[in-house]
Amino acid sequence: MEGLLTFLGTGTSMGVPTLGCACAVCTSDDPHDRRLRPSILLRWHEDAETGGRERVVVIDTGPDFREQALRNRLTRMDAVFYTHAHADHILGLDDLRPLSFTAYREGGPIPLYATPETAAVLKRIYEYTLSPHATYPNRARVELVPMSQRTMVHGVEFIVVPVMHGEMEIAGFRFGRAAYLTDVSAIPESSFALLEGLDHLTISALRHKPHPSHATVKQALGWAQRIGARNTWLTHIAHELGHEETNRALPAGVKLAYDGLDLPVDLGPVSLGPATP
Ligand SMILES: [Zn+2]
Ligand SMILES: [Zn+2]
Repeated sequence: MEGLLTFLGTGTSMGVPTLGCACAVCTSDDPHDRRLRPSILLRWHEDAETGGRERVVVIDTGPDFREQALRNRLTRMDAVFYTHAHADHILGLDDLRPLSFTAYREGGPIPLYATPETAAVLKRIYEYTLSPHATYPNRARVELVPMSQRTMVHGVEFIVVPVMHGEMEIAGFRFGRAAYLTDVSAIPESSFALLEGLDHLTISALRHKPHPSHATVKQALGWAQRIGARNTWLTHIAHELGHEETNRALPAGVKLAYDGLDLPVDLGPVSLGPATP
């Protein structure tokens, strides 16, 4: 099954330009140097037998989610997957409200797939929405669903690929022949088996200077080489990295992603071999 992956945002937590900064990247005229907070959109059409309807899933709803949904003319949402509960990945949850009213009329709340750690933070911040006692009439019609290692959403399987983000284990995702790993500082050995045979790997690379919970460009390139995807896209990019200049220095097959980049992706079934769960 063919789908379309769209980068909704490719910036680091503060976004690029960064408020108050006058550096060359933050003041650049190149639209590729404007990066909203990190998130991706996946769209596909279900098979004709099951209705042929367009399905829409996002990974993370950061503080720029509303703007991202407007830019991409989103009119529906079938599911949200959360990588982890840092502000730059979750603070747009409330803007699911209008889309959730449509979903609710069609049959139910939007499922929000999250690990127990992520769900605990979401419940605390969005108590008025997620508490079983929530009564606010205009709350988002959403429902936390404990994330399984493999989740089927309208014919497409999402497989959790655990990665380390500083001290914290967070969720990366594989879907068909593509994978999205953001906020990575290390990849557990067992996760590499989940990343075989990729056409498109997206992996975060903050900047060149080391950071305790984010990979540098060099680290990301090392993993990219080992994983060996046909194409590797770097995301969660800080203002230290100018688009043109950085791309010129990257090896063949690796590029910086940018907001609005569309990639056709094969979302067909994944066989991971007998050795992996
Ligand atoms: Zn982040
Ligand atoms: Zn983070």
